[in-house]
Amino acid sequence: MIVILKPSIDIHSSEYRFTLDTLSQLPGIDIQMHRTQGHLEVIHEIYLIGDTEHISIENIEALPGVSRVIRISAQYQILGRHPKATQGFEFTYNGVVFSQNNLNVFAGLCAVDNIENVEVMMRSLHAHGQTCTRMGAYKPRTSPYAFQGLGKTCLPYVFEKAGKYGIKVIAMEVTHQRHIEEIIEYLNQAGNPTGVMLQIGTRNAQNFELLREVGSQKEFPVLFKRGYGITLGESLHAAEYLAHAGNHNIIFCLRGVKSLFGPPHRNMVDFGHVPVIRRLTKMPVCIDPSHSVGSLERTPEGLSDIFHATAQGVISGANMVLVDFHPFPPTAVVDSKQAIPITNLGWYLEDIAIARDAFEKRVLLARKKLNA
Ligand code: PEP
Ligand code: MN
Repeated sequence: MIVILKPSIDIHSSEYRFTLDTLSQLPGIDIQMHRTQGHLEVIHEIYLIGDTEHISIENIEALPGVSRVIRISAQYQILGRHPKATQGFEFTYNGVVFSQNNLNVFAGLCAVDNIENVEVMMRSLHAHGQTCTRMGAYKPRTSPYAFQGLGKTCLPYVFEKAGKYGIKVIAMEVTHQRHIEEIIEYLNQAGNPTGVMLQIGTRNAQNFELLREVGSQKEFPVLFKRGYGITLGESLHAAEYLAHAGNHNIIFCLRGVKSLFGPPHRNMVDFGHVPVIRRLTKMPVCIDPSHSVGSLERTPEGLSDIFHATAQGVISGANMVLVDFHPFPPTAVVDSKQAIPITNLGWYLEDIAIARDAFEKRVLLARKKLNA
C-alpha cells in the first residue's frame, strides 16, 4: 500500500508527525519513506510493507497529512509502476539526476589495470564533458585462475583521478559487504572527491543476502544487472529485494541473456525489454551493449554491433548506458574483445545523441497522435 502525503507537507508539522506515528503503529507492517523531488514540489510517499489486506483505505485517507492511498496488488510492490501512481523514481546522486526521463552515459574500464590507464580514461571523459564512468575493481570471473581485479589497492588512485577530472559517479561492482566497507573507507580517505554506484553483477542477481546488504545501505545508489539465466520477472523480483531492504535508488540494467541463439554475439541482446521495464516499473533503465554484444565486429558502413545495439536501446528510451572503453583494447586484461578504443569516445557519444534525439521525437509524435 502506498500512502501519498499532501504536496509539499512540512515534515516538522504536527499533521506529518501524527500521520507517521499512526502508520508506524500498525501491527505487522513495516514502513518505508520515499521522497521524490518533482519539478514543482516534493512528493512524500510512505510504503506500508507486509500484509495490508485488512487495512482500510478510508481510515488511512482520513489521517491529516494524507492526500491519497493506493492499494497495490502488483507483485513488484515498491518498484512496480502502479496504475494511478505514474511518477517514476527520480533521484539525484552527487549532483547527477537519474530518472526515466533522461540519459546518462557510463563509459569506462571494465577492469582497472593500472594508474596510467585510469588517468587516460578520466582525462578523455572530462574532455568530452562526461561526469560518470565505470571502473571495475572487484571482478568476479568464471575461472579462479583469471585476473580477479585489483580490489582495494586501486581505489585510492581511482577516486583521486575521478576528483581531479570532475567525475561525479563511478559504477563499480561489489560482491561482498566487505567491498562496500572498503569503498567507504577509501572515499573518506581521499576526502570524498567522487561518488560510487554499487553494481550487482549478473552472476549475483539472485544472491539474496548480498541484495539485502546492498539494499539496506542508503549512501550509494545501486545498478542491478538482470540475471543472465533467469526470466525477466525473476530479475525484477530480485531487484525488489534491494528496495524491500530500504534503498529505492535502483537502476535496472539489461546486459543480454545466455542463449544458444545468441552467437555470434556474446549474449542474446535483450534491449527489446527497455520499454517493458519502463512500463512495468519506476526504475530508470540501463543498457550494457558491451557485455551483450561482446565484440567490435562492424557492419559494412563501419558501425560496430555495439554502436548499433546502443542506438537500439537508446531509441527506445534507455536512461543509462554502461559501456567498456580502454586506451589500448588489445592489452585490456578483462573483456579485451569488446572494449571500444577511447579515441572513439567522441564518435560514440555523438551517435548516442542522434538516437536520443530520435527517441524524443518519437515521444512527441506519439503525444500528437494520441491527442489528435
Ligand atoms: C561487468 O559489467 O563488468 C560485468 C561483469 O557484467 P555482468 O555482471 O553483466 O557480466
Ligand atoms: Mn566486463
